[in-house]
Amino acid sequence: MTTADIEKPSSAKGRVTPMMAQYIEIKTANPDSLLFYRMGDFYELFFEDAEIASRSLGITLTKRGKHDGEDIPMCGVPVHAADDYLQKLIGLGHRVSVCEQMEDPAEAKKRGSKSVVRRDVVRLVTPGTITEDRLLDAKRNNFLASLARVKGGSNSHGNTYGLAWIDMSTGTFRVAESDDVRLAAALARIDPSELVLADALLQETELRATVEGLGAALSPVPRTFFDGATAQDRLSSYFSVGTLDGFANYTRAELIAASGILAYIDKTQLGERPPLEPPVKEAAAGQLLIDPATRANLELTRTLSGERRGSLLSAIDKTVTGAGSRLLASRLAGPLTDPQQISQRQDTIAFFASDTMQREDIRSLLKSAPDMSRALSRLAVDRGGPRDLQSIAFAMTSAREIAGLLASGGAYPQEIADTVQRLEQAPHALGEKLMQAIAEEPPLLKRDGGFVAPSYHADLDELKSLRDQSRKVIAQMQADLSAELGIRSLKIKHNNVLGWFMEAPTAQCDPMKDDPARFIHRQSMAGAMRFTTTELADLESKISSAGERALAIELEIFNELTKAVVEAGAHIKSAAEALAVLDVSTSLAVLAEAENYIRPVVDEGLAFTIEGGRHPVVEQALRKSGEPFVANNANLGPLESFENGQIWLITGPNMAGKSTFLRQNALIAVLAQMGSFVPATKAHIGVVDRLFSRVGAADDLARGRSTFMVEMVETAAILNQATDRSLVILDEIGRGTATFDGLSIAWAAIEHLHETNRSRSLFATHYHEITALSQRLERLNNATVRVKEWKGDVVFLHEIVEGAADRSYGIQVAKLAGLPKSVVKRAQKILVQLEEQDTNKPAEKLLDDLPLFASFSQPLDTILEPEQESEGVVSNELSVLLEALDPDDMTPRQAHEALYALKQKQKELSSH
Ligand code: ATP
Repeated sequence: MTTADIEKPSSAKGRVTPMMAQYIEIKTANPDSLLFYRMGDFYELFFEDAEIASRSLGITLTKRGKHDGEDIPMCGVPVHAADDYLQKLIGLGHRVSVCEQMEDPAEAKKRGSKSVVRRDVVRLVTPGTITEDRLLDAKRNNFLASLARVKGGSNSHGNTYGLAWIDMSTGTFRVAESDDVRLAAALARIDPSELVLADALLQETELRATVEGLGAALSPVPRTFFDGATAQDRLSSYFSVGTLDGFANYTRAELIAASGILAYIDKTQLGERPPLEPPVKEAAAGQLLIDPATRANLELTRTLSGERRGSLLSAIDKTVTGAGSRLLASRLAGPLTDPQQISQRQDTIAFFASDTMQREDIRSLLKSAPDMSRALSRLAVDRGGPRDLQSIAFAMTSAREIAGLLASGGAYPQEIADTVQRLEQAPHALGEKLMQAIAEEPPLLKRDGGFVAPSYHADLDELKSLRDQSRKVIAQMQADLSAELGIRSLKIKHNNVLGWFMEAPTAQCDPMKDDPARFIHRQSMAGAMRFTTTELADLESKISSAGERALAIELEIFNELTKAVVEAGAHIKSAAEALAVLDVSTSLAVLAEAENYIRPVVDEGLAFTIEGGRHPVVEQALRKSGEPFVANNANLGPLESFENGQIWLITGPNMAGKSTFLRQNALIAVLAQMGSFVPATKAHIGVVDRLFSRVGAADDLARGRSTFMVEMVETAAILNQATDRSLVILDEIGRGTATFDGLSIAWAAIEHLHETNRSRSLFATHYHEITALSQRLERLNNATVRVKEWKGDVVFLHEIVEGAADRSYGIQVAKLAGLPKSVVKRAQKILVQLEEQDTNKPAEKLLDDLPLFASFSQPLDTILEPEQESEGVVSNELSVLLEALDPDDMTPRQAHEALYALKQKQKELSSH
């Protein structure tokens, strides 16, 4: 039974239980998500939702009652473990509506025995709107993004797009404008886990292909979410300001995207407003543009298989906090183009590279600083707990200590001076208050109580001691009264009917009977009497409600502290960001020291001179297996005789290290422009505006593109868009088609790059014929990777030198890879023939020269090496022939024929 079926329950109305009617009503209002329907200690799922959830979560599918004569499928998850299940479902791209009981079942009963507990959806959980620690990756930002397209935007050619993106778990809010050409790159940089866009946009094939390529969950919404007329109002109302003038000069496209994303947050959070910073405008001009294919190929933040391990990010990440790791990832995803800003970041790293004492002190303080931004965001949307308050307290302590450490030091680079100022402005008094207020090991949930520290609140302390020490208090009162009245056997007791009372043998009760104003008679028993006093009644009511009242006071304290934290949110966030900057800078200094990185010169010129460059990821991987990485130089910049950028055409054997060399130079440029030091002995880079790479072969069957088509689409993008400020990495263009087609395409592409794009480029190819171009194209240099031949095998030296390779050694590499011996030998034979071949000779002729499996049918000795043939000794010749046969590689028929051929050969040899 599907959701559609249950949307029309009318035919079965009479048979639908009241609870099921309520479920269907709520489900109908929330059709695009799985409904977690709260029933006591479980969230239950029904119908199609139950089938999806049981498949996705591997939980048992049961049934409950019938609908329209059919069983209703059902499955459930316990509330206490719901986060784990949510995480799995969200990870699979599902959305979940969480429907809670809005009243006590006892309340519902009062309306009649059949009445159903009131329930309502309190939250829509989607991949881009989660804030819980357990659902989030501490090291990754979790961006929700929105995409709006406006007519008549600032872009006169083509479309103008507005982009807005928010990390709800930290409050980060950014907007930017884009156009058709840059859109894919801009979205890939944001790398959102969920993208909100008008459903009409998703109907357009081109745009759909672009956004589907992101791998984010797509959330289509009605066009009204992106209504231009109300955008400004929505934004100013969210930030409670009369006008947006004070924020920034947003464009119409940015405003509409920002308002669309806020509308979506309203929808998913049902009115709760996460604390967001006012949207910060990001100018596309300030960023090194990296399109999605290049980003993926260079494995910047994740590998081609989607993992963080093995990516550049994981090779350079030495941060010690989640926030630091997230900032590092975002700097890597969006390198800068302003040399001055880059140099500021370098100054900070240089400072920490030289002052290792200060650096280590800061890092050890950072290690004990919890994730303040995420704690703050949870508190603001009422999903926080006592541990979040404690996290803020701890982080503020670290912030204060770090500020103290740095402030005493003196003159600092700009970025450090800024962070010190931000740390000093943090609400330290609030931090101290939190420190005093929260107990050492608070529980996760506020409803459990017991999180307020002793001595923080006098009434609370009294209530707690009453609750916890009630027996002691009563015992004390009993002892006091017994002494005062001289009744040794006086006892204070409790039962469910009378509550607390004092009891004494009737014969000794006179002192109490004589003072009825103080001792109120409750009950006479055989041989004993029971009394109470106002004091005991007070104590009783205090004891019985102490637990409840203690919890109420704790919750009041929690709310008051939370309010103070949220009010100080902007300063807390600013301090959290300052800590993240310090984490990133100190970690990059640690990296530079550990890995021997140097400070590159980055300026407005067009240089690209790398001395002793290394591949940051391959170098680390080789070190693990004890092998050295061979450093290489690159010089693509303007030489004295050249006006503009230069192209290096790299030929060389397979496996020699061409791809590694290409990528390492691209990665060095990315590292340099994110403000990091780089793996080289010297580097001078004129800022790169766009980075393009065409490496590796992958098909995109989902989008209906073959391997070769993908290759050509990427090449087209490069040739159409690269400028003289771009860096272009082209690995093996034209490989996926026939030799002459491929060669011609590669040839023409180089000419275009040289004449039109004039980009700094590295071009690796196996088409040795193209190296001749260097005679005609003045800015084209030939480079090759050195190898040595040793006993017929090839030894890779991984060293890039000037010149052109004469051959590819493909067959030697194939041999190394373990291709069957007979195939290797056969390939060698074919190669010789092909190389000797007159290019005008028709292909049929070649087939005549190299008939298939000719080796076994007649001239068996075609598989012989020349020197082996010359030996002329019967047994020798036969053993050579035998050697060339590989029984595992032969069909029975071939084996049979080979045997005949051998017999024949033996006959011939012995008759000579
Ligand atoms: P193909 O033409 O087959 O694609 P290639 O020339 O592009 O090969 P790479 O993939 O770059 O070769 O390198 C092959 C292997 O050689 C790498 O995985 C690495 O282990 C090693 N290698 C490459 N460059 C170096 C270097 N500079 N120093 C040490 N080892 C290297």
